[in-house]
Amino acid sequence: MRIGSIGAGQLGQMLGEAARALGHECLFLDPSENPPAATVGEVVRAAFDDASALAEIASRTDVITYEFENVPVDALRGLVDRIGVFPPLDALEQAQDRLREKRLFESLDIPLPAFRAVDNVEDLQRAASEIGLPLVVKTRRFGYDGKGQFVLRSAADCAQAVEALGGQGLIAEAWVPFDFEVSVIGVRSRSGEIAVWPLTENRHDGGILSVSRAPLVDTALEDQAGIYVRRMLEELEYVGVLALELFVAESTLLANEFAPRVHNSGHWTIEGAETSQFANHILAVTGEKPGPTRAVGHAGMLNLIGEIPAAARLLDAPGATLHDYGKSPRPGRKLGHITVVAKSAAQRDEMLEGIV
Ligand code: AMP
Repeated sequence: MRIGSIGAGQLGQMLGEAARALGHECLFLDPSENPPAATVGEVVRAAFDDASALAEIASRTDVITYEFENVPVDALRGLVDRIGVFPPLDALEQAQDRLREKRLFESLDIPLPAFRAVDNVEDLQRAASEIGLPLVVKTRRFGYDGKGQFVLRSAADCAQAVEALGGQGLIAEAWVPFDFEVSVIGVRSRSGEIAVWPLTENRHDGGILSVSRAPLVDTALEDQAGIYVRRMLEELEYVGVLALELFVAESTLLANEFAPRVHNSGHWTIEGAETSQFANHILAVTGEKPGPTRAVGHAGMLNLIGEIPAAARLLDAPGATLHDYGKSPRPGRKLGHITVVAKSAAQRDEMLEGIV
C-alpha cells in the first residue's frame, strides 16, 4: 500500500522504516527543506494546509496518517470523503485543545489534576483561590515539551502569567507533586482489536523527555493505565497508536495529556518489544491486526538533545542501538536517541548510566 504521512520528522522517518519492512511505501508532506523522513520516501514540499498538495497526497496514496499534533484539522477534513484518515480527526481535535482533552478525561472517569479554563486575570485569580497554589498555567493550544507554560506560585503574579501566555485561551491546573511520570501506549485496529505495551517510566529535563524505561514493573499501575488507555481508544473509535501520559503521585495515576500518534516514550519498542509502536501503527492504519506488544527484555531510551556526542556515534555495546535522525544540531532539538535492551532492570540502568 501507499501511505500518506502529514509530517516528515523523525516520527515519520521511523514510521517509514516500519512501513518499508512491512512492504509498504510512504509519501510525506512537509514544508521543511531536508526533513528526516526524506531518507525513507518521497516528500511533497508544501505547507501542511496547502489544499493542492494535500489533494496530491490523497490521490497518490491509499490511506493518510500524521506524525504530529499541530496538523490543521480543517485542511484534513476535506479529504475524509475521498480517503481514510487515521487516527480519527475528532481525536486529533481533542488532543489539540487542552481544555477539551481534560474534559474528555473527566467524561471517561480518568482521574486528572483539578483545572479551570482561564481567559483573563480574574479567571486565574479565581482558579488560584479555588484550587490553591502552585498552579501550572498552560496555553490551550500549540504547547509542547513544556513550552507555553507558567508555574504560578504567588497570586500576585496572576497578571504576569496571563500576559506571558498571551492573555486568553489558557487553562490553569493544580501543580502535582508527582513521584514520577509514566506513559501508556496502546493501538487499535480498524476492526477494533486493541493491544497495549508495557508501562513506560519517563524522566523529563526542562519539559523535554530525557529518559524512558520499560517495562515499569508495577502490576497495579500497569493494569490501571491499561484500563484508561483502552477506554480512550474505544470511546474515540480510534485507529492507530495513542499515547497517554500520566503522573504517579502516592501510587495513584493522574492523566496529564494524550498524543494521537506514535510517541517519543515508545521509541524503546523498536528494539525492546515484540512489535514496535511504528509497525503497529502501520498495521492498524492499513487495516491489519496489531502484533504482540510484550517486552523482550528491559529497555531504556535516552534522547540525544542539542547534539549527538561523539561517544554515542562510537557506541559499540551489545544491546545498544543509536538512532540518528540526520537533523542539524540546534540547542533543545531532538537529534536522535539510544536504546538499550538488557536482561534485567539493574543491567539496563547500568548501561544507561554508562552512556550518560
Ligand atoms: P506537558 O506539556 O503538559 O506534557 O508538560 C511538560 C512537563 O511539565 C510534564 O511532563 C511535567 O514534567 C511538567 N508538568 C506539566 N504539568 C504539570 C503539573 N500540573 N504538575 C507538575 N508538573 C507538571
